[in-house]
Amino acid sequence: MDLVSAVEHYDVVVVGGGPVGLASAWHAVRRGARVAVFEQFEFGNERSGTSGAERHWRLQYTEPDLCRLTGEALPLWRDLERASGETLLHAFGSLWFGDVDVATNEGKISETARTMDQLSIPYEWLTASDIERRYGFAHLPRHFEGFVQPDGGAVDVRATVAGLLRLTEAAGCVLRADEPVRELAPDVDGVRLSTPRGRYRADKVVLANGPYANRLLEPLGIRLELNVFEMALVTLRQRDPRARHPFWFVFQEPTEEDTNLFYGFPPNSWQDTDHVRIGPVFEVNALSDPERATGTPDPRHVTRACDWVERHLPLVDPRPLVRSACLAVLPADPERQFFLGTAGGRCTGGENVVIATGGWGFKFVPLLGKVCAQLCLDGATTYDVDRLALPAPTRP
Ligand SMILES: Cc1cc2nc3c(=O)[nH]c(=O)nc-3n(C[C@H](O)[C@H](O)[C@H](O)COP(=O)(O)OP(=O)(O)OC[C@H]3O[C@@H](n4cnc5c(N)ncnc54)[C@H](O)[C@@H]3O)c2cc1C
Repeated sequence: MDLVSAVEHYDVVVVGGGPVGLASAWHAVRRGARVAVFEQFEFGNERSGTSGAERHWRLQYTEPDLCRLTGEALPLWRDLERASGETLLHAFGSLWFGDVDVATNEGKISETARTMDQLSIPYEWLTASDIERRYGFAHLPRHFEGFVQPDGGAVDVRATVAGLLRLTEAAGCVLRADEPVRELAPDVDGVRLSTPRGRYRADKVVLANGPYANRLLEPLGIRLELNVFEMALVTLRQRDPRARHPFWFVFQEPTEEDTNLFYGFPPNSWQDTDHVRIGPVFEVNALSDPERATGTPDPRHVTRACDWVERHLPLVDPRPLVRSACLAVLPADPERQFFLGTAGGRCTGGENVVIATGGWGFKFVPLLGKVCAQLCLDGATTYDVDRLALPAPTRP
């Protein structure tokens, strides 16, 4: 056998077996492409940017284009639910409240309300007293206001990943666990890849390796302005298991130490539990390398989140049951939210490398997957995501 025929060849190779990589593989394999996914750990691992039971599903964004995209993601979620036979989106409302003009990575309450007005997305405006009376919050500053958007809620993370794994495998996609891609070498005809187990060739590569994106891009002369944070997640017990509140996110002025933002889920509607998960969203202490993650949350961040709950959410016992951490990978430019596009113009053969990383991306999983598959198989996407494309190289 000569060396060329020894190299396995695929139409599409996906680097990273998280939800975005699996969704890209599913959309590509459904269209008849020969697809392989390489995952450095086991599939379904919770060591990178995806962990825990749930992620916030919301229609609202401050930016109208992202707001439209969540609407476009919805039918793709329904399609995935039909194919996997599971309910993945659970709507119990999305409550944003606090200082309405505070600008955060999540957005700004006042501007988001304007965007929802423009796009005819329904919501109810609430005062601090309304929020306290209706949902059991307490001692909120009197100037706090916000809205509840009834179609928001949560995505079932584990059912999504498990469903995508089943679907990709059943459709004939090659799934390679414990096989990290060490190097990419794009050229005008495709991309060569190497792993500790072999060498491969693909017409197109999807880079869906979350916090590790720059590790494969830097040798190609490309560096995405991304920050990686190890964010705390805390599990608590709800005192009254029957009480129900929406997903909530509180927008507050930053303190000297941190971004002062907290969120929480109600007990999962798909699990019989009185546990709730809360978290701080502190963009502090960015990691210089995702490998430096410790897997344990900063105790101060856990305390800050539990203190907020103790003061403002008497419905929940503030003593932590479980403390965990997960890698959030956010573009340094908060306006951008995501990197989604090809590396065309950035290196030889860059048009053959499709990149999807960054941002609060779980809610967009099936859409990101479809966009990546379209960019691989059609060279263009039908979705309006130009703004998320890689920036043009800066001239020296
Ligand atoms: C605390 C926290 C809360 C969040 N909350 C929300 C939310 O409420 N709503 C929302 O929409 N989003 C939220 N997000 C973001 C969302 O979870 C992520 O956008 C999404 O899970 C990322 O999925 P992914 O497939 O892109 O990346 P990942 O899940 O990070 O998967 C990347 C995979 O690539 C693998 N990999 C890396 N390098 C290689 C390599 N060289 N070769 C092979 N494999 C490799 C990794 O092992 C990993 O399995 C949150 C994130 C965090 C951390």
